[in-house]
Amino acid sequence: MQEFMRMCVECNPGETEFLQAVSEVAESVKPVLDRHPEYRKAKILERMVEPERLISFRVPWVDDGGEVQVNRGYRIQMNGAIGPYKGGFRFHPSVNASILKFLAFEQVYKNALTTLPMGGGKGGANFDPKGKSDLEVMRFCQSFMNELFRHLGPNTDVPAGDIGVGAREIGYLFGAYKKLKNEFTGVLTGKRREWGGSLIRPEATGYGSVYFAAEMLATRDQTLEGKVCLVSGSGNVAQFTVEKLIEMGARAVTLSDSSGYIFDEKGIDRAKLDYVMHLKNVERGRIKEYADRYPEAVYTPRDPSADFNPLWNYKADCAFPSATQNEINAKDAANLVNNGVYVVSEGANMPTVPEGVDLFLEHKILYGPGKAANAGGVSVSGLEMSQNSLRMSWTREEVDGHLHRIMKDIHKACVEAAESYGTPGNYVSGANIAGFEKVARAMLDQGVI
Ligand code: GLU
Repeated sequence: MQEFMRMCVECNPGETEFLQAVSEVAESVKPVLDRHPEYRKAKILERMVEPERLISFRVPWVDDGGEVQVNRGYRIQMNGAIGPYKGGFRFHPSVNASILKFLAFEQVYKNALTTLPMGGGKGGANFDPKGKSDLEVMRFCQSFMNELFRHLGPNTDVPAGDIGVGAREIGYLFGAYKKLKNEFTGVLTGKRREWGGSLIRPEATGYGSVYFAAEMLATRDQTLEGKVCLVSGSGNVAQFTVEKLIEMGARAVTLSDSSGYIFDEKGIDRAKLDYVMHLKNVERGRIKEYADRYPEAVYTPRDPSADFNPLWNYKADCAFPSATQNEINAKDAANLVNNGVYVVSEGANMPTVPEGVDLFLEHKILYGPGKAANAGGVSVSGLEMSQNSLRMSWTREEVDGHLHRIMKDIHKACVEAAESYGTPGNYVSGANIAGFEKVARAMLDQGVI
């Protein structure tokens, strides 16, 4: 394993996030490789860390002032062993090859866990939709698709949204693809309902992460009723996490964005959540305005020089990190544990640093890693693909029923894999092993290719 990691570091210099994700999986699957020498012989892990295809391209566009802008676009087709590449686009200034490779790598195992036939991919650009006009976003999306359309297709690669890519961006991207290919196909998911989207897709990641937390709590004969919950982020994942928490009788007390966070001890109720949804989705405003509207809430601006995030430093039962990677550092993780938090369900991808993960495992808290806990989003994307292929659309109840069952199945698969490899209660090794085994078997079946 040391030799394997040394090789990874050498081949992917400076790609810290990618190496972080690889090292966690490699550590978890070591016992699988010991039990299955055929995987080692076929160099399954070595093949898995090398993207099947990495596309990087220039995205030129013209801003509202008439000035030419240039961004860098990517699509990483990581692994297609069990289905077409599937995974979102992220538009954010932090986007680079390392971030997208880590996300694509995580996506492979996450998608395998969903029980649906989807390979793993990820893409995006270092473009910041924040502060851009609708027309600028449209021009950017059209230029992005101008290159990428040739690499996509409903049986080849089906992107979706991620940070900075919601229904508006998916609409512009879909329009451009349709025009260039002259065909109307389910090439993207997260579409609006009226033209091929699935009910429950916007809700899916947040709902799924709460369903996963409920499953973890059930192993200790507990429910979410009355639990105090810390939620980070205020985008689609955080919003629907809070919605499901309200429905389950829990009390969500925080939300954040890149400028700061609010703490509302009384809890974010339905009316307040409706306000947040309008603020964020329609007005594209900042979470600070929540505290102006509801004086019982306290707003704290982000302090870039602080070595911990005070959002994670309140007495609570559960935490739902739903913002971005590495948002819980080692100190935050210690604060959570010291404040009595014993359930962490990750709505974001890899939001906890490795030292934090170790601490959670050491304290035997119910810790659901992103690739299991946030798999609800891509699961409903898979259901959107099925509906598009059938040219049908299912009801809310049908889709939510599938989502709930899938989250229960993922939980069960994690528990069983962890038990089978001698790490009971460890959802990190459970998720990595269960996802890995499915993809590894498919790769073995399909030969060295
Ligand atoms: N971006 C989401 C994720 O991280 C969803 C991907 C999809 O729906 O394809 O899983």
